Amino acid sequence: MASKYQAPRGTFDILPEQASARTRLEREAAEIFARAGYEPIATPVFEDTALFERGVGKSTDIVRKEMFTFEDKGGRSLTLRPEGTASICRAYLEHGMHKLAQPVKLSYLGPFFRHERPQAGRYRQFHQLGIECIGTDSPAADAEVIVMLSTLLKELGVPGVELRLGSLGSLDARRAYLEVLKAHLHAHEGDLSKDVRERIDINPLRAFDSDDAGTQAVMAAAPTIVDRLEGEDAAHFAAVRAYLDVSGVAYTIDSSLVRGLDYYTRTIFSFVCDSLGAQSEIGGGGRYDGLIEQLGGPPTPAVGFAAGVERILLALGEGEAEVPQRKVFIVTANYDQAMELAGDLRQKGFPAELDLAGRSQKGQLKHANRVGARWVVFLHGESPELRDMQSGEQKPVDLANLVDEMTGAEG
Ligand code: AMP
Repeated sequence: MASKYQAPRGTFDILPEQASARTRLEREAAEIFARAGYEPIATPVFEDTALFERGVGKSTDIVRKEMFTFEDKGGRSLTLRPEGTASICRAYLEHGMHKLAQPVKLSYLGPFFRHERPQAGRYRQFHQLGIECIGTDSPAADAEVIVMLSTLLKELGVPGVELRLGSLGSLDARRAYLEVLKAHLHAHEGDLSKDVRERIDINPLRAFDSDDAGTQAVMAAAPTIVDRLEGEDAAHFAAVRAYLDVSGVAYTIDSSLVRGLDYYTRTIFSFVCDSLGAQSEIGGGGRYDGLIEQLGGPPTPAVGFAAGVERILLALGEGEAEVPQRKVFIVTANYDQAMELAGDLRQKGFPAELDLAGRSQKGQLKHANRVGARWVVFLHGESPELRDMQSGEQKPVDLANLVDEMTGAEG
């Protein structure tokens, strides 16, 4: 029955059998975030294009190549959000959250869009969950944010996760370092890939991410900022590491770590899972002390992370759909009574279904089997009966005791 229409390239449908693994993930994340005082925020799926140009950075791959940008009927340029932080900072300013007690701690989950080459673990519409801790420059906030993602991955049981940690220094230190790095790249221009060479002056950090062999050789000898951190930057990085140590979160220092967004300062981090293959990053983030000012607000330090929902599910072996263990199917010719009972059972927390297709009672029983019912209630004749689909045992039941009868047989 395939039609000529298919989901667009790089997008996918989330089918019912895949939904329960997602729901579990979302529930656990929401609980972990709430326990640490992060409150949910939701922003629109599209924003003014200028927000991302300004917030994510014009020289980034995301802004240069990956945005789904369109003009609305009023001639305004809008973009499907490629990431969450710029929008949340926009909302923070728009709603005067800088007047609240700081830091403001927010969490989010939703779809994001990037026009990338699709492959396993990389899609054009994907989902991210994340948190932002806005309005503090304390290294304790960096550590808390990292611990939150570590806790989530641990509680979900994601295997083989490693944390890589780096620092880009403060805005000034970063600026000074970029000059040193540019000089190194210019000195070896002939060995660099065309893409990296063309961007030496716009975005030299990206050279660390290159998969070109010549560029990689040049970068192996490049000066790194982690090794040059001074003063408060060095103290900040040491404090973050000390907090991670007391929190029992293991990490390796990665001096070549850079991230694809322009706004990071000081701490950056990345959680990777080798079983994921080429797209091994599950989530990452860092501090972005200059972003809110960049968007026209007062100087406001902040730190956050974003993790990819699909990557987490892939690392978990996604398929393990949870079959509801308590499903009840009501077989009946009396639909009034069946609907009432279904409503009552649903209210008590039992997934309950009844025939919606005019089947015979025999057909209904067959259907109960197909939808994986744990129990079947027969509302026929004088007295209702309950069948345990696991043992096959069937007996008369008083509807007033139905729940007790079922739960007594659970286990
Ligand atoms: P980023 O916003 O680029 O720092 O990405 C944060 C996380 O989002 C990554 O670690 C991935 O897990 C996930 N992610 C980013 N881009 C994609 C994509 N195109 N498809 C699926 N997941 C993605």
